[in-house]
Amino acid sequence: MADLAVDGGHDTLVAAVDWGGTWIRVAAVSGGRIVRKDRRAKPKSLAEQYATVADMVLHTTSHLGQLPTAVGVGLAGVVQEGVVGTAHNLGFTDGTDIAAALRPHLPLPAYLLNDVQATALGVAARWPHGTTAVLAMGTGIGGAVVKDGSLHPGLGGAGDFGHVVIDVDGPRCPCGGTGCLEVLVSGRTLAEAANALAEAGLSPLLAARARSGRVLHAGDLQDAAQDGDSRATEILNRSAIAFSAGIRTIVATHDPHRIVLAGATLAPTTWFGRAMRAHWDLTRPHWARTELHHVEQDEDAALLGAASYALDRFTAAQSGS
Ligand SMILES: [Zn+2]
Repeated sequence: MADLAVDGGHDTLVAAVDWGGTWIRVAAVSGGRIVRKDRRAKPKSLAEQYATVADMVLHTTSHLGQLPTAVGVGLAGVVQEGVVGTAHNLGFTDGTDIAAALRPHLPLPAYLLNDVQATALGVAARWPHGTTAVLAMGTGIGGAVVKDGSLHPGLGGAGDFGHVVIDVDGPRCPCGGTGCLEVLVSGRTLAEAANALAEAGLSPLLAARARSGRVLHAGDLQDAAQDGDSRATEILNRSAIAFSAGIRTIVATHDPHRIVLAGATLAPTTWFGRAMRAHWDLTRPHWARTELHHVEQDEDAALLGAASYALDRFTAAQSGS
């Protein structure tokens, strides 16, 4: 595969699409920079969505005097070898070839990838050399493996670290497994834990916040632990142990130069971030040299990553590799 990072490809014009459940965002990317962006609400029918994506790509690039060389499409769903594995939120049937479906509307080479992989690829561009594993925590957990600026997705799902198994006797995961990292630790599970403590009256601070009408999030659980709440502390400690076990698996499988942790909860300054790093320092393999870095979520990263992927795949196709 060609070795092209986000800043590769010089001034080749590429279009990037972030195809989400609520919004469709499109950017014109040149020289690794976004030169123009557009955002529209996702229409209901698939036929309208295809037409809208095509119109947005043409509209976003029209003032630049040339058509984009390729289109990278980051999609909220599983993508395997260029086709949709599953993307029920967007209404796609499994196996849909979106690049082929777009072609009548937009006669350009289009390359599909998962939206978290696109974000990870954009994030990893800061480290153009070596192996970077991105581990992103928002509502769920996702990630990607990037080598020398190129995505290494395997058949599609490599780097989907939310499904690293931590506890074989743990709760069921929608993926079909049990005890996956994502069902033990994620923005969703920490928020659920905070709400459960509040409802059971087991945390005065959380109960008071819930009574005031506030919807509790992971940050509230961390505030409770910071306030000396023993139950919140226990939950976060257990979660930190589980998360650091996930990091061990990434090191064992990829031994990357660095693991980039993305998301506010994973910052080194948060209660969870400190606890998780402390567990990692205690339990890391003695030979492990992998560095941990942190970045905040950045919505432009998904667009830059999708553009980088498209340029990479297009260049590889041209060279016959
Ligand atoms: Zn799973």
